[in-house]
Amino acid sequence: MSVPILSARNVTRSYGQGATRFDALKGVSLDVREGESLAVVGKSGSGKSTLMHLLALLDRPTSGDVELSGHSASRLSAGKLNRLRNETFGFVFQQFFLTPNATVLDNVTLPLRIAGIRPAERRRRGMAALEQLELADKAGNRATNLSGGQKQRAAIARALVNEPGVIFADEPTGNLDSATGETVENILLDLNRDRGITLIVVTHDDDLADRLDRRVHIRDGLVAQGAEVAA
Ligand code: ADP
Ligand code: MG
Repeated sequence: MSVPILSARNVTRSYGQGATRFDALKGVSLDVREGESLAVVGKSGSGKSTLMHLLALLDRPTSGDVELSGHSASRLSAGKLNRLRNETFGFVFQQFFLTPNATVLDNVTLPLRIAGIRPAERRRRGMAALEQLELADKAGNRATNLSGGQKQRAAIARALVNEPGVIFADEPTGNLDSATGETVENILLDLNRDRGITLIVVTHDDDLADRLDRRVHIRDGLVAQGAEVAA
């Protein structure tokens, strides 16, 4: 078997200290295979987003380790981690996290700016991503003027602009009506199926989880026993 693209090795994550310490993750191990689609499900507060942030190298575990293609992330400097994350991962969040007064194109090309790509190349790649999401005509609009579905499509364009190997989506349809949500689901699933982008979706929507290859159920900071099943 090939090396997993991502592994969590007995990760814990505690917030606060002393009397206010809270153990959000209590020892989770998980392998993600290149090209698969994985749903992380569980009740609100169970630790799903915390786990996603660890896998996505947005946060470091209190103990345990995350491995990217077999390489431990714990020994990497913050700068190396930031570069790796920006080059390898795309992100889609429930709250979109677009800069409201910046243009759609500037929002979409932000990862390229971070990567030090020159303006002309940024523009070319940003427009190509917007075209794929059928948003090219909105490139010059301020992000705040988009509808919810358009905002999430812009966020997906931004997630794609660096040609990531993995897309993380945290409740990507949580702020959308069901028809718009389904469009966004279809886009993410197509990226997985057609381009082989590994897809990790945090969701409490069972219908969405059913559409992915596999689900991991998080309960009170642990993988629920017997609940990691093939879809
Ligand atoms: P989920 O995504 O499953 O709803 P989270 O991973 O966001 O759950 O949170 C898990 C638990 O950790 C919750 O009880 C939450 O209140 C707590 N938590 C999350 N982030 C923080 C933080 N930065 N500081 C303190 N507690 C936190
Ligand atoms: Mg969450």
